[in-house]
Amino acid sequence: MFVSKPFDEDEFLAVVLDFIKDNVPGIIKSENLWSVGLFKDVAVKTRILDKIAWWLFEEDQQVALKKLQKNNRPGICGHIFKPGEATYTCRECAADSTCVFCQKCFRQSAHINHKHKLHSSAGGGCCDCGDVEAWKKHPFCNLHEVAGELQAVSGAVELDEALRKRAHVLFKFLLQYISDCLTSDHKETNQLPIYLQPQQPSDTYMAVVYNDESHTFDYVIDVLKHAISCSVKIASDFATIIDREGRTPIVAGREAVCLEAKQFIETTRSSRTVRINQENFPLKTKVIHVNVLAHQELSVSLLQWLNMICQECEDFRVMISDILTDKYEEDVRKTIVGKLMLADILLWKVARSSSQTLIMSSTLMQLSSKKVFAATYVKLYKQLMDDFLMDDHNHSDSITSMSVQLFTVPTVVSYLIAEEGLLQVILETIISACCISGSNQENNVPFKFDGRNRAKIFRRLQFCFSDLKYVLSCLLPEWNETLEYHFLSFFKLLTTFLSSVEGMDSVTRQVNGHLEYEPEWQTMVTLSMTMKPIIKKVLKWCSHNERVLNHCLAETVSVLKNLHCKETEKKITIKYNGTDFHCIDFDITSKPVSVHYPLTRFAAALLVSLGKTTDSLESVKTMWNIMDLAECSFRSLALCAQVSAGAWRRNGMSLANQSFYYRNYLCRSELFVRDIQMLQCCCALIEPNLFFVTLHHKLTLLDSNKMQEFHMPLYEELVLLLIHIYAERFTDGIGQISQKDIIKREIIHILASGPKPHSKIQKYLSHELSENPDWEKILHEVADFRPSSNTKSAARYELKYEYLQNISPYFYHYETASQQADVRNEVSQRKKAMNCSLGFTPQPLPSFTKAFSGIVYLLSATAFISLLKSILQNYLVPQITMSDRLLEKVLYLIGCGIVEERQMLNTDDRCSFEFCNGLKQSGILGTLKELQETQSVAFHQETILWTISKLEDVLNFRAGTINLGDIETSQLKNTNVSKLSQKQMVQKKREKLMLQMKQLQQKFVEKNAMSVQENSAPLEKSPESIPNESGETPVCTSLKWQLATKNEEASEICILCQDDSDLQDCFVVPAFVQSSSVLFKRQANHIGRTSSFVDIFNYPGVHVSTCSHILHYMCWQQYMDSLKDNRESLAFHLRRHYASFSVDQNEFLCPLCSCLSNCAIPVISMEKMFEYRGVSSSIQDSMTIHQWIHLMEEYTDRFMQEKDDGLVTQQSNNGTSLLLKTNTSIIESTSLESHEVDLDESDMVEQQFAGDQLEPALYAMIESFKKKCKNITDNFKNSVTAVDNENRLLWITASTTFQVQENISRYKNTPLLAPASVRTDCALLHLTRSCFAYAHLKKSELQSRRNECIQLLLGKHDECLLFTNIFSTFVQLMCSCQVFLEISSVSAVVNGCNILFLCSLAQIVQIMLCVDVETIISENSEDPQSDLVKCFVQVRSYANIPTMHKIDHIKLENCLSHCFDPFLRCCVLFMHYMTKVPVPSLLKEQNDRICMFQYLGLPSNMLSYFDLDGNGDLSKIVQRWCSNFSPDVGDKVIYPDLIKVNTLVQLEEHYSDVIAVASDFKCPRFGSNSDSVSPTMCLICGVMLCSQSYCCQNTLGGINYGACAYHSYKCNYGCGIFLRSRDCTIFLLNEKKGSFRSAPYLDEHGETDRGLRRGNPMKLNEERVKELNLIWLSHAIPEQIARDVEANRSLSNFNWTHF
Ligand SMILES: [Zn+2]
Ligand SMILES: [Zn+2]
Ligand SMILES: [Zn+2]
Ligand SMILES: [Zn+2]
Ligand SMILES: [Zn+2]
Ligand SMILES: [Zn+2]
Ligand SMILES: [Zn+2]
Repeated sequence: MFVSKPFDEDEFLAVVLDFIKDNVPGIIKSENLWSVGLFKDVAVKTRILDKIAWWLFEEDQQVALKKLQKNNRPGICGHIFKPGEATYTCRECAADSTCVFCQKCFRQSAHINHKHKLHSSAGGGCCDCGDVEAWKKHPFCNLHEVAGELQAVSGAVELDEALRKRAHVLFKFLLQYISDCLTSDHKETNQLPIYLQPQQPSDTYMAVVYNDESHTFDYVIDVLKHAISCSVKIASDFATIIDREGRTPIVAGREAVCLEAKQFIETTRSSRTVRINQENFPLKTKVIHVNVLAHQELSVSLLQWLNMICQECEDFRVMISDILTDKYEEDVRKTIVGKLMLADILLWKVARSSSQTLIMSSTLMQLSSKKVFAATYVKLYKQLMDDFLMDDHNHSDSITSMSVQLFTVPTVVSYLIAEEGLLQVILETIISACCISGSNQENNVPFKFDGRNRAKIFRRLQFCFSDLKYVLSCLLPEWNETLEYHFLSFFKLLTTFLSSVEGMDSVTRQVNGHLEYEPEWQTMVTLSMTMKPIIKKVLKWCSHNERVLNHCLAETVSVLKNLHCKETEKKITIKYNGTDFHCIDFDITSKPVSVHYPLTRFAAALLVSLGKTTDSLESVKTMWNIMDLAECSFRSLALCAQVSAGAWRRNGMSLANQSFYYRNYLCRSELFVRDIQMLQCCCALIEPNLFFVTLHHKLTLLDSNKMQEFHMPLYEELVLLLIHIYAERFTDGIGQISQKDIIKREIIHILASGPKPHSKIQKYLSHELSENPDWEKILHEVADFRPSSNTKSAARYELKYEYLQNISPYFYHYETASQQADVRNEVSQRKKAMNCSLGFTPQPLPSFTKAFSGIVYLLSATAFISLLKSILQNYLVPQITMSDRLLEKVLYLIGCGIVEERQMLNTDDRCSFEFCNGLKQSGILGTLKELQETQSVAFHQETILWTISKLEDVLNFRAGTINLGDIETSQLKNTNVSKLSQKQMVQKKREKLMLQMKQLQQKFVEKNAMSVQENSAPLEKSPESIPNESGETPVCTSLKWQLATKNEEASEICILCQDDSDLQDCFVVPAFVQSSSVLFKRQANHIGRTSSFVDIFNYPGVHVSTCSHILHYMCWQQYMDSLKDNRESLAFHLRRHYASFSVDQNEFLCPLCSCLSNCAIPVISMEKMFEYRGVSSSIQDSMTIHQWIHLMEEYTDRFMQEKDDGLVTQQSNNGTSLLLKTNTSIIESTSLESHEVDLDESDMVEQQFAGDQLEPALYAMIESFKKKCKNITDNFKNSVTAVDNENRLLWITASTTFQVQENISRYKNTPLLAPASVRTDCALLHLTRSCFAYAHLKKSELQSRRNECIQLLLGKHDECLLFTNIFSTFVQLMCSCQVFLEISSVSAVVNGCNILFLCSLAQIVQIMLCVDVETIISENSEDPQSDLVKCFVQVRSYANIPTMHKIDHIKLENCLSHCFDPFLRCCVLFMHYMTKVPVPSLLKEQNDRICMFQYLGLPSNMLSYFDLDGNGDLSKIVQRWCSNFSPDVGDKVIYPDLIKVNTLVQLEEHYSDVIAVASDFKCPRFGSNSDSVSPTMCLICGVMLCSQSYCCQNTLGGINYGACAYHSYKCNYGCGIFLRSRDCTIFLLNEKKGSFRSAPYLDEHGETDRGLRRGNPMKLNEERVKELNLIWLSHAIPEQIARDVEANRSLSNFNWTHF
């Protein structure tokens, strides 16, 4: 046994080393033994790892770990997420949005009852459970809180000293070994470290191909295929492994062989084009010595093993963490963790993730080691980032993705800022990556921004910006001197950085001709978006205290002054209204201007922050002249105003786009809004007339020669700007308001243009507002929730009526004039509905803060008043056309002033703001009174009246003649201000417009009448003429009733030629035929059974649907021909018009309603139907069932006799059986040849079709059916639709379509015979009649097989009736009924009656034999047995099924009738469409079983089928049926299940469960450690697949199919419904086409979340599930896709076969 001796470190290591050195090379399989993905010898690797574990524990690893578990007490979870795993964050408690729980923790935490979000992880992050800094409340889940307590109570159990010692030595050795093996890759040598070099060198090498994100799969497959001459399949598997693991060897052998492969790969350019915008560089390939490869592979496995060890035991975790970070090493680059991080860029995916995972599960698990690691990380940050910028892997693969683990922890961040200068490090990294130093000296900026020439870098640099955002988002625990020092030096750097972009992308107005090329503009806009959150955070830090704020302001202003002072020095003197004003001499129409002035705007933001604390902004004046400071804001506002006035059209789309983003909700808060704020600062500080004139001047309105044609729109822009400056006070620092007021106003204005779903509101609400958890409360305060009324739309929020008056159409977040107009219309409509005043009048505004209070005097400035006057006076002159919108704005602005003054008088009745007096003295009051009478501005009458009355109120108050309290402020009451006559004018104008609209609408409806109405409306034809004899119930099997309904049917009109004649031509309806597995029950393993029937499982089926629009057969033919011709003549790019259907597949869209179709079914009259069925009024006979059976038996016996005599051999031997078959081999043998034979034959036999088009129409229909069913069966020999016999094909189609209809009605729970939609009605009717017509056409064929039919029915055939789907058999017998007529000389009606009876009996017997006995027995029921039970036992004994006891009579009876129901219902439906005998009115309202029996003329008592008047005939037949029945089949067929509607898979109630299931799913081909990229579920059968991924592709007929497309053929003939779990999306698939829709899950706001972007918890919505099920059950997938593609052509750009 083991002898204990003192532990000798050197000796121990020598043993380990020798073992590794000798054994590791064995990991790689020898040259000839490996295949794709299998080059490692797993057994050898496991043996090595086991040995190492043994050295550590000196006992079995599992046993040892179990003991150690009590030493494991992580207070934190640290679970590392797999890609696709669900992550949860609590919206109420999370410190920031990066804090997440894993599902296990979340479900055990208090947050499950809070508002939370659910996302699907990109992989890599870890669970923050237990991190007290991540959560404001409840940082622990129940699982980890317990662990934490244990730690406190019991303390650490000491680790065995020997084990500790061994562990330390071993770990240190292993980590050193790993670092040597993995980082030696650095030098690209094939030399192992000396201590690992083996005694006997081998000369085997491997060529290894590495992954990158630049090359496409197709490229890699193509290159590999040629490089190693392998099949596409193998190359594709190699490519998959390269993508998943990051590298794979492709060749093994002598060095030369490998070098050759490498050479080939690196020099070949693929025939396929590389992704656009990617440089055409080769795949990275290395030739590596097998021994090196072996050690590298072992190193990766060791990393994973160590990671496992870390998770099991805390002491080991600490030990490994200490070794990794090695605090005694001064140079972090020399620590193991430093080496691993620096080597990251050279490693492949699996190696990267293994080393990152080990770092996370060791160093990050405790705050102290986390800090040490973080410091190392920051020291290496610049290097790592530089590597990452050049790297060709995704960010999630890179070591730099660790930032989020470190930079979001406040204590770590404050440590890093203070010790490592984190803020500066990140910003310096950014600057060094995207700026060029030294080239911009003239403006005193040390470097120049240059993101453009390095587009790729700039994209990757975004992650650096996010790091900065994370750091700044931390709420630091305390603000001390060190922190302040570091922040201020960071700030200085930031202002320099911003100054390098100040004025970028400047433009000069094009006067002569358009711009020749569009300058690139995206980079700067992207930078603005990127900087937006960062600037916001920096501002928050700046305003931490007043000293910092002032310092920052001074810093910013001084940088700006340096930058702009030269430009602003030159002044110009402007004369306005006789006064001289000194403005900066800068004409934006001739000099370069820009929309990017981030530093100026930053100064504005600081000034606004100052407004919160100071009473005056005067201090800024001491730094620089405020007009100079604001100059750039003036310029960009003026520029954008001129752009929207249309004055810069020649500068092209580049400028238009920039100006769009300037005001767009994504950017505006740091662009447009800041400029407005800067002007507000300026306005508050300088003399209002000067401000006004400057603005005027900047807009180029003072020079009457310049831009004359734009003056009117520019005046509009000017007034709008003034409204913004004056009225936009809802900013903290500018107005005296609360956060709540801001949010409220924002929401009101978002909802002003109409009700919106929650997500839209959140989208438009700026980020910092929607971060406020109260915003939803405020939303409910101002809006009502309106649930959605259908499955197409989302639920919405509608603004409450009382908030309408708060809406201003000039709200500064409305981006365009059209948006303003939308708001106007919507609000006016709602106001009108409530019958109140329509005008927009200003509401009292909150007051400015003291610092900004100067702004109000802008309105009383003389320059402004004189402008108002001159504008208003223009409206009095009839010759000049002035804009309505300008007047509206001017009146609004005047209103603002009046309301303001009135408001101020409330508190101070001698206030110095004298706007109203100014208006009166300048004569504006008089002008307004004149306008009141002016016809041309009658539309504004109401507003003018309101303005005058308010103005007079204030004047009167000032004059002392009125009290303030008397002034009515409410706007909503319709006061007498508006004169009736004016109202009527407005009314009339509106009514006229409405009338016009109505007429247009009507025209449209008339044009499209049929398509609009008929599609969905239920059929309400003229009441069928019923021989209403004392309310007798109709019986469809009676001749009397059938004859009574003979005359019906109105004439039809062809939708193409509008003609109604059918003399020469027959009518057809467009239809869509498809194979179907809707009725297919996946039960038992019956597929191997070869039967010649449509077997009891209804497998397989063919379904037909139609849109019911009628056209001539010839017209249809011409239409099809023109489609084919057109397509050929169309240029390639126009073929998109054919995107929704494939002409090759015979597909077309209905010319009227665009419904997808692929065949046409003939329309056959009632009269002809009677002929085909052989019904005539002359033969009227009555015959009992027994007589009928005798007659039939006589016939078959005679036939058999003759056959024995050899008289009829020819007939019965001539080929395929008439009975429905599903046999594979037959299909192959029958091809078009056999059809041609049929054609000849029919020519001889039938004459009555000559002369019209019905016959070709029938043949065309059959051809289309065959083509569609054959197309698919060709590809899949194992799932087959019977296409060998045309008659049989038709009958299968009819029986499937009827049964599907029955299923749908059962699913919808509506009466089966309730008036059906025109579409259904049409399909069932014409399909039935076509069956009979075709049977008539092929009469001779039926005659030849007549005997087989009768034998089957009587039980005398070899095949057993009971194995068939009885309804299908019934349909087929009915259709061939006419040939029965000939032998028996009995009427068709009697034949039909008896066939129905016998089939019903057969159905009952089938149920009895196949019923699930569990459902009908009951413990306490024994004798006496009822007749039914006796009968049941009797029947089963015929089939030799053992007798059973304890049968419950009631249960049996219920079960029988329940299982019989579907058959009964199908028969009723079929008989109705066959005979057209009207249904009893009771059945239109409910499914009454008795009434159905009556309608069919059948007894409703099951027993009466067995012994009608005691004759033994029936029981003999039943005996014969049963004697062919083998119980082993019966065992598998369990009846109540068989009749269940085959709905889609039942989905999980909560969406989070869907994600959880999907994240556990592994790629079925690449197995256990390979997570599926896009797990997708087939909703038809529930199987999970790897969608859109190369790993699971399959080839079919030379084409590569993705897993789902391939599966859809196996599952349902090429049609499928799939759920992509990770992005909450459903997609429909029909062969090569498809479309998307949202998964049927709704969040609490009644919205779906396609793509899982919002992540609100969602629940299954029954309505939407039902809609999906109906698409499936009614075979509407192809039609839905065609409609979706018609509506959205871009869907045809997807390669659906790859899904
Ligand atoms: Zn967790
Ligand atoms: Zn937990
Ligand atoms: Zn919470
Ligand atoms: Zn026609
Ligand atoms: Zn149609
Ligand atoms: Zn796969
Ligand atoms: Zn499936």
